Amino acid sequence: MKQPLPKRFNILEIEGKWHKKWEEMGVYRFDWNNKACPTYSIDTPPPYPSGEFHMGNVLNWTYFDIVARYKRMRGYNVFFPQGWDCHGLSIEVEVERTHNVKKRDVSPDKFRKWCEQTIEKYIVMMKNSIIRLGCSVDWSTEYRTMNPEYWKLTQLSFIMSYKKGFIYQGTYPVNWCPRCETAIADAEVDYEQREGTLHYIRFPLENNREHLLIATTRPELLPACVAVAVHPTDDRYRKYIGKKVHVPIADGIVEIIPDEMVEPSFGTGVVMICTYGDKADVKTVLKNKLPVIMILTENGKLNEKGGKYNGLSTVEAKKAIVKDLEAAGLLEKIKSLQQEIGVCARCGTPVEILERKQWFMKTRVLTDKVVEAANEVKWYPNYMKNRLIDWARSLDWDWVISRQRVFGTPIPIWYCKKCGEIIIAKKSWVPVDPKMEKPKIEKCPKCGSTKFFSETDVFDTWMDSSITCAVHAGWQNREDWRRLFPADMHPSGIDIIRTWAYYLMVRHLVLFNEKPYKSCLINGMVLGADGRKMSKSLKNYVATPEVLDKYGADASRQWAAAGGATGSDIPFRWPDVEYGWRFLIKLWNASRFVSNQLKDYKPNENAEYILQPLDKWILSKAEKLTKKVTDALERCQINIAMEEIRNFTWHVFCDCYLEAVKDRLYKPELYGEEKKKAAQYTLYTVLYRVLQLLAPVTPHVTEELYHLMYAEEKSYISIHLSPWPTLDEKHVDERAEKHGDLIMAVVTGVRREKAEKRMPLNTQVKKLTIYAGNKESASIINEGKEDIIGTCKIAEIEVLPKKGEGRDIQGYSNIRFTTEY
Ligand SMILES: [Zn+2]
Ligand SMILES: [Zn+2]
Repeated sequence: MKQPLPKRFNILEIEGKWHKKWEEMGVYRFDWNNKACPTYSIDTPPPYPSGEFHMGNVLNWTYFDIVARYKRMRGYNVFFPQGWDCHGLSIEVEVERTHNVKKRDVSPDKFRKWCEQTIEKYIVMMKNSIIRLGCSVDWSTEYRTMNPEYWKLTQLSFIMSYKKGFIYQGTYPVNWCPRCETAIADAEVDYEQREGTLHYIRFPLENNREHLLIATTRPELLPACVAVAVHPTDDRYRKYIGKKVHVPIADGIVEIIPDEMVEPSFGTGVVMICTYGDKADVKTVLKNKLPVIMILTENGKLNEKGGKYNGLSTVEAKKAIVKDLEAAGLLEKIKSLQQEIGVCARCGTPVEILERKQWFMKTRVLTDKVVEAANEVKWYPNYMKNRLIDWARSLDWDWVISRQRVFGTPIPIWYCKKCGEIIIAKKSWVPVDPKMEKPKIEKCPKCGSTKFFSETDVFDTWMDSSITCAVHAGWQNREDWRRLFPADMHPSGIDIIRTWAYYLMVRHLVLFNEKPYKSCLINGMVLGADGRKMSKSLKNYVATPEVLDKYGADASRQWAAAGGATGSDIPFRWPDVEYGWRFLIKLWNASRFVSNQLKDYKPNENAEYILQPLDKWILSKAEKLTKKVTDALERCQINIAMEEIRNFTWHVFCDCYLEAVKDRLYKPELYGEEKKKAAQYTLYTVLYRVLQLLAPVTPHVTEELYHLMYAEEKSYISIHLSPWPTLDEKHVDERAEKHGDLIMAVVTGVRREKAEKRMPLNTQVKKLTIYAGNKESASIINEGKEDIIGTCKIAEIEVLPKKGEGRDIQGYSNIRFTTEY
């Protein structure tokens, strides 16, 4: 054994040192040439580089890093890649804000450059956080979706899906963000409760002096009203069905139609159908073949169809129209109401529904396949699969994959100027930006024209990040990519099942007719200490660097691992991280004690030790612990694994065993050299086991202790490459555990009495009398007599097989004891 451990340790220094060394030694590199070991591939979600690696990311990455480390020790050739999902609205929105421009104010090239610069800055920050957290990423795999090598893959996947008939272009209603000026997918619409105003407006009946009262939150859409609807069984209004009404302000005349979707109890039970106020309007228009009046521009203003309100924003138009309605005596009343409205997930602007020509991927036809595949996937926890299934079944529209933005992978399409024929890039042309290059054909295959124009839209960023399972495996770049496909595990937050897990599923089903991942590990949300979702606006926000700077990664990872059941929401509480930190100190001090006691110990595989009852007791318990931790990790029950290992280390190993063997170690002249050797062997063996079981959760401190105490003899270059311990049957000893439990209960009983009497623990007991209640217990206690005497500082001990009066021993109602001091 080397030098004993230093008394103090600087966890931040230790962590930084190992981050460097691990990278230098290539500990976490995937070995492409190793064909002997089974592989385990993780489909690491490439994050949006927002610059901030928040506590939710800490939770997520800790989960799957624990799995990666565990699998590596189990002998798998682990593939743990890391990339960056660069494109997308969030970066564009930020660039627009920092440079105070809109996307059209500068050239696309310049705008793209700004986006790339911002991204690079953020990637550095996020990469540092992932490294600091101690994630065992293979950094040789690092990639960026904004690079042409990645464009190539996204574009190829598009071409393949097109050829298979899953892509189409068409003019359909789509979710539209008027601030971002682009179509967005259902998954990018968030729903918020906001206070709205219900306007009760009089619609005069044609050829009649009566009017119908209609309640609407969107009077600005009056010029786009194409019908008025009532429920077909609503007795109040049945007689009006088929008649016509004047649309106030707009001069139009529309029909009153029956529609089952009308809720008679909402407002007045009469609604106006506009193109489009919401998704329900889309359905009604389609069903009744109503005309469409597209009244909004792409930036959310009324166009010429809005008549005198042309050019006003929806907010301005609402004000003006309400004023005019009032003046005309057509506004009966207004009422406030709480309403749920769809907003752009990237910028929070209320979403409109516009009809625009877009590219779509057929996803709804895949719903049955998605459900089937979701049932084949192993989910941790199992009930999460319903989130994916329910989402797939809830979708009304196909996935709109084109975006009217700049910072995205270009859609590899041109059009014939003369006949409009769609020219899709050939596989050999990609990566390509059709805005910069012409199609590599002489003339239009349909009409022979030689003039083309390019598609200017880009792909939804999910088109990039939804093929990662294949990309990570090496699709298009390696012959043997099938080795790592489907991914063994896809980790995901509960909030992005509807996007990440879903899009991965549909894309890979189309491309390869196969599910992309075999299992899915879900983490919940991080809550603030007040139990609400952690958020800057709620003032319950804690920044990751603050936590890592104060307590380091190993303590923070313990918070993530122990915080709650897999998939459940986990509150961030400083005391939980502090507990993790105190555990590290306990572990360090215990290791230091052990290293001090092992100065003259030479590990020898073949040596026979005369193990004492408590040695056998803890060795057996360590085996049981190994089984419990292994079983828990196999089921991704990370918190259970963590609880088991911390309890054992702290309470069984440190509080009980270390105390009980001190006397034997300190006084070999009294107990004999053999018994000291047995204690040394036990300490050496059990501590190593503890370090190995802890290694996936607290990788830094275990690596440090391993190198200071075990590396020379064990000779693995890292504890993280040492084989995971398996149950050693020869040490499982039920009898020893039963006996040891009783002996430890006696020791604990005496110590507890001293504590209650406020005596120092090393106070000498003149005489301890134990009434064991029967012969069997008496003989067990006699076996452990030496440990009891040594640990409790007892001058004289008497163990009687009969019952007697005195303090009881917890868990053993028949056994009592008395003490004399
Ligand atoms: Zn937006
Ligand atoms: Zn043509």
